[in-house]
Amino acid sequence: MEAEPLVDLKNLHAEALVDFLAGMGKEKFRADQILRWIYLRGVTDFAAMTDLAKSFREELARRAFISDFTHETVEVSTDGTRKFLFRLDDGRSVETVLIPMEGGRNTLCISTQVGCAMQCSFCLTGTFGLERNLSTSEIVNQVCAVRRDFPVDNIVLMGMGEPLHNLDNVVDALKILYAPAGLDYGPRKVTLSTSGLVPQMYELGQRIKVNLAVSLNATTDEVRNRLMPVNRRYPLQELMQACQQFPLAPRQRITFEYILIRGVNDSQADAKRLVRLLHGIKAKVNLIPFNEHAGSEFKAPEEADMRAFQTYLLDRQIVAIRRAGKGQDISAACGQLKGRLEAEGRGLAPKVPVPGIGAGG
Ligand code: SAH
Ligand code: SF4
Repeated sequence: MEAEPLVDLKNLHAEALVDFLAGMGKEKFRADQILRWIYLRGVTDFAAMTDLAKSFREELARRAFISDFTHETVEVSTDGTRKFLFRLDDGRSVETVLIPMEGGRNTLCISTQVGCAMQCSFCLTGTFGLERNLSTSEIVNQVCAVRRDFPVDNIVLMGMGEPLHNLDNVVDALKILYAPAGLDYGPRKVTLSTSGLVPQMYELGQRIKVNLAVSLNATTDEVRNRLMPVNRRYPLQELMQACQQFPLAPRQRITFEYILIRGVNDSQADAKRLVRLLHGIKAKVNLIPFNEHAGSEFKAPEEADMRAFQTYLLDRQIVAIRRAGKGQDISAACGQLKGRLEAEGRGLAPKVPVPGIGAGG
């Protein structure tokens, strides 16, 4: 008889773990015990799970294993941002960024794919295409590994990849992050950012609670088509309708990310159109200066234009925050991950080395 492949327990959310254990004739409460060992104590060896019978531990070891990440490298920015690189089983790698926030809290920016299929013209990750989806455990392990060394207060799915293009694994990963017996993050501590895959936005809203961020970046279809090819499939009107219908808790808002690019989307007319687009939506806006990199001809906005854009929104009672580009000196910004590595590997590196290539959002 051929052996069943071992199940990675970090791919199973609580309900799936209950089912898995039921298949071994075990009670439901065993799932919580095991979740605590894995996610609170960081145990990867069943032998260490001392409140389980020895025979049960041995049977678990015959059927399952617990995967884990150890970072291969970590780079520390002058502003305290840390970029971790994890090597995956197939030799590919993924990056995760820990960003210190005001008030001493830490936000962890995690990746959901290796590469990205969406091809946004301003984004370095997008220029390389999609290599593959991350599994549920590969998403969760980024959090587990960093939490061993640093407190992680908030989690943003804003690293490499389009989370809604890997929806099933992302939803399972969120369930694991939320499990009360395990990592126990409240859904309000976790934000998922999308480029605007409209059908998957509806599906996400029905399947699980999470803060939603939308990378908007333009106020006309013409400009957005040029910046984000996904807009040709799901134009602004459909996108804004999906935002309007996204389920929100009483004081919850959708975050709209808007990268300001000089002469492309940073005019007062854009600000005016943005106010109109957001009408009737519980929104806040994150303004992000475009981060110049060798893979793109776009330019960062003038300081004065950026300020005028923000003022226009604030004057109309729209919450508009300027997001500082953290970790620029180590290419650690969201959306820019693995930029330097890939650019060099594929001969796309600039002829003259540019310090901090790819640092952005
Ligand atoms: N794919 C999802 C998840 C995050 S993408 C999405 O697009 O929403 C990474 C983030 O980095 C996005 O918010 C994107 O707008 C931002 N980003 C990408 N390239 C950038 C650049 N050159 N300058 C500033 N921000 C950038
Ligand atoms: Fe992908 Fe987001 Fe970059 Fe667009 S901005 S290419 S969706 S990672």
